[in-house]
Amino acid sequence: MYLYNSATHKKAEFVTHTPGHVEMYTCGPTVYHFAHIGNLRSYIMEDVLEKYLRYAGYSVNRVMNITDVGHLSSDADTGEDKMLKGAKRENKSVLEIAKYYTDAFFDDCAKLNIKTPDVVEPATNCIDEYINIVQTLEQKGYAYFAGGNVYFDTSKLDRYYIFNDHDEDDLAIGVREGVEEDPNKRNKNDFVLWFTQSKFEDQALKWDSPWGVGYPGWHIECSGISMKHNGEYLDIHCGGVDNAFPHHTNEIAQTESFLGHAWCPQWFHVAHLNTNDGKMSKSKGEFLTVSLLEQKGYDPLAYRFFCLQSHYRKALVFSWENLENAQGAYNKLLRRIAALNDADGQVDEAVAKEFKDKFIQQLGNDLNTSMGVTALYDVLKAKTNDVTKRAILASFDQVLSLNLLEKAAAIREKEAAQAKSQTACGYTVTGEGDPAIDALVMARYEAKKAKNFAEADRIRDELKAQGIEIIDAKDGATWKRV
Ligand code: AMP
Ligand code: ZN
Repeated sequence: MYLYNSATHKKAEFVTHTPGHVEMYTCGPTVYHFAHIGNLRSYIMEDVLEKYLRYAGYSVNRVMNITDVGHLSSDADTGEDKMLKGAKRENKSVLEIAKYYTDAFFDDCAKLNIKTPDVVEPATNCIDEYINIVQTLEQKGYAYFAGGNVYFDTSKLDRYYIFNDHDEDDLAIGVREGVEEDPNKRNKNDFVLWFTQSKFEDQALKWDSPWGVGYPGWHIECSGISMKHNGEYLDIHCGGVDNAFPHHTNEIAQTESFLGHAWCPQWFHVAHLNTNDGKMSKSKGEFLTVSLLEQKGYDPLAYRFFCLQSHYRKALVFSWENLENAQGAYNKLLRRIAALNDADGQVDEAVAKEFKDKFIQQLGNDLNTSMGVTALYDVLKAKTNDVTKRAILASFDQVLSLNLLEKAAAIREKEAAQAKSQTACGYTVTGEGDPAIDALVMARYEAKKAKNFAEADRIRDELKAQGIEIIDAKDGATWKRV
């Protein structure tokens, strides 16, 4: 596989520490609110990456944290604690908030066919690990205690700006969002490893530590959880692009200083999903969630389909119109799959292999998911039997996870049930293969039978307005578009 690496700014062959095996880490959600569909774009793309790697023959150990402590509203260790903010908003405890939104996150993931990682670890489970890392960093001279907190000393590093597409000015803490500079920091990029002097008097989650009662900084949790479950050598680390700085930069600084060797060579960052009026935010009143998409009648998998149509490194604009188009294209694709014959012979293994090899190669070019989607249409157009087409589509769906055959089967079942009910009363509707129109023609017949002629005429007019002509026959009707 060839992947772009945001640490080297180059696309290169993906190489793992242990051949054939991938240790993968994903920054998990901060569980103070529902995930918005922007967050979920990142998780969809990471899910495809994981599934692709397995499909291409790797074994994968994927680890994800749940941030239930320590993430402040500014990534630069200032502002409010996000969890506390969520708890106050809902008049609940931090633990209740964490449980509720962790469950909500996995419900959303299930609706989007995002597989749960092999290991999911809440940050509050690993306090001993963080304390051990911070103590070691102190012993090695990478950390200092000031004003009640333990800080990482970035001046001790040979190289700090790993993802060096950041401008020094952009990194200047204290200039962003009117956030005040922390006077305890010796260098502007130093960051908190452990807070004891909590400025939040009502901070609910605190633990004993060698520096006093306190809680971990946000960055340390990903280092601690990854080393605990992925070991000392991580192959690929994933997150949204906003995580690159300072979060991932700080993770690298502290982990490599702790380990004394290089840690993770490959960094996978997903570009943001934006709306036409800018960045997606949870503080903007009603924000875009999976439930909102459902309430508006969209299938969450149509949103997954929408995400797959574009490349993970390009910013993607969400609009209802774009989603409507994706839903339409997804429905059409499913109807074409539903029309495939499931018993027209044997799977042609040679053809299937050819397609699968090509799919691995296309997606293996920096996870080109839009080519993966195009591959589905190529299968439908292929010169082979339907059984082979179905087998290839099912195989690709192990990576794309669009429930292609299941949904196509549901369409067929619905059509069959409709046909049955249409013939059961001795009245048959035939048309151009649109069950919704069939149902309307049937409803017109039933209205006529019940002598409700006004309703029958209304339905006929409604169909006419859609350009549908009904031709009545002896025991039924046919319809066509005119
Ligand atoms: P959070 O719950 O804020 O910690 O974010 C969870 C994940 O979503 C992180 O990997 C973020 O980088 C990512 N993320 C945040 N906003 C967006 C967005 N608008 N589009 C894509 N990913 C995002
Ligand atoms: Zn992280």
